[in-house]
Amino acid sequence: MKKAASHDSVNISRRILLKGIAAAPFILSSASTWASIPAEPDVVIIGAGAAGLGAAKTLTDLGISFIMIEAQARTGGRAYTDEHIFGIPYDMGCHWLNYDDANPWYNYGKNNDFTIIPEKNDPYGLFVGNRPATKIEMKAYDKEWDRFSDRICRAAEGRNPDVSPAEAMEIDNKWKFLVSYIRGPLGMGKEIDEWSCKDWYWSGSESFTTFCNEGYGSIVAHYRRNLPVELATPAQHIDWQGSGVKTGTPKGTINSKAVIITVSTGVLGADKIKFTPSLPVVKQESFQYVSMGTYNNVALQFSKDFFGLGPDAYVDYVNEAGTEGGGMLTNMGGTNLSYVYSGGDLGRELELAGFEAGVEWGLNEVVKAYGSDAGKYFIKGNFTRWGEHPWTLGSYASAKPGYWHMREELRKTVADKIFFAGEATHPKQWATCGGGILSGIDAANNVAKTFGKR
Ligand SMILES: Cc1cc2nc3c(=O)[nH]c(=O)nc-3n(C[C@H](O)[C@H](O)[C@H](O)COP(=O)(O)OP(=O)(O)OC[C@H]3O[C@@H](n4cnc5c(N)ncnc54)[C@H](O)[C@@H]3O)c2cc1C
Repeated sequence: MKKAASHDSVNISRRILLKGIAAAPFILSSASTWASIPAEPDVVIIGAGAAGLGAAKTLTDLGISFIMIEAQARTGGRAYTDEHIFGIPYDMGCHWLNYDDANPWYNYGKNNDFTIIPEKNDPYGLFVGNRPATKIEMKAYDKEWDRFSDRICRAAEGRNPDVSPAEAMEIDNKWKFLVSYIRGPLGMGKEIDEWSCKDWYWSGSESFTTFCNEGYGSIVAHYRRNLPVELATPAQHIDWQGSGVKTGTPKGTINSKAVIITVSTGVLGADKIKFTPSLPVVKQESFQYVSMGTYNNVALQFSKDFFGLGPDAYVDYVNEAGTEGGGMLTNMGGTNLSYVYSGGDLGRELELAGFEAGVEWGLNEVVKAYGSDAGKYFIKGNFTRWGEHPWTLGSYASAKPGYWHMREELRKTVADKIFFAGEATHPKQWATCGGGILSGIDAANNVAKTFGKR
């Protein structure tokens, strides 16, 4: 397994790194509205990420009363743009707007004057060792990439057993590591023997992708601006005995007819919300089988675009032996901020190694591909560690091999009053911010049907 970079390979000033972190406004203050919220709303929405916000907007439009409670002192969840660490928009979670206009955030962003730009596929870079790949290497890599994707789709067909990509894999050449690393740890947040081909297959076809210069999280924050939310109010307990539901929080208990739970399967699987009576066993199992992967960005701010590929160019890189490598998004929006991605086992190892080790590793990856001059232009870095984030406990979810059917269990309503939403519950756009909002809208519409309002 690949190890984090040695500490003396790149000299990063601890002071510079900490300065970036200290400036980050992770906690946004908000006056409590607790005293003025309805005592007995129709619905409690738990979590104010993409899914919770989608549910809240839909219930508002349907005239169904609700309280949305959020554990953190800010909204957005995994969709969050920070503007303080680097002084420019920096997406700490989602950054790519996937699925073109099948993703509601795409049109919402366009209609609200955000700068939405298409992902650029040309030039996109492949580095081998510390040199650009030859045309022959590019072609060979593309071919193996397509072959692997095709194998996953074929393995997932019809009544085939629910296997992992590792079992379906045919590549055994120089590109094996890179193709599996980009598809696995950097795609799913898991190694290629840890997720189900059928689950991936049913996620739907790949479509064109865009970026938002102001940050994906800024679009989500804009959508939230007229929706009421009670911040710093974690749901601790859900009592669904008898009629209605009682949601226990540190500020008191809320009685409602129904609840929409949008928290990650990481949070649900860690029993951070207790249920009385316990949820059905199959539901509890679904939290474990549709489990969170690890995927993070190491954001590096440079003083110049030494990559030379222009804004928003994605670069894959691999060593000459084909045994180590990864992916990075360079010069985002022309700001000289770049992401080096980590995921899977290595990603988890880095999360545990800590902030500085992560930044150092990221810079070292750039140096490996672009030479030590990269260090000269380095200003400061940041490392997201979503697996350590108490209200997420991972990056996004996927089904383990043999358990893709558990996604359906995950989204099933319990007793016509406990509704489940969140990216992991969406049948097609799971793992994405678009899947998040769509799942919230679906859950709110299902609540309305149960109330006889649709
Ligand atoms: C590093 C990274 C990169 C990503 N890149 C992309 C990308 O490029 N494109 C893309 O589309 N997607 C991407 N994603 C995934 C995307 O960010 C998520 O799928 C999406 O934001 C999830 O939204 P959600 O509402 O389902 O969950 P969340 O955003 O996790 O929202 C759930 C909310 O519930 C709150 N909560 C948790 N427990 C409680 C509790 N007990 N009580 C009250 N509130 C609680 C949380 O604080 C959170 O705000 C990325 C994710 C990560 C981590």
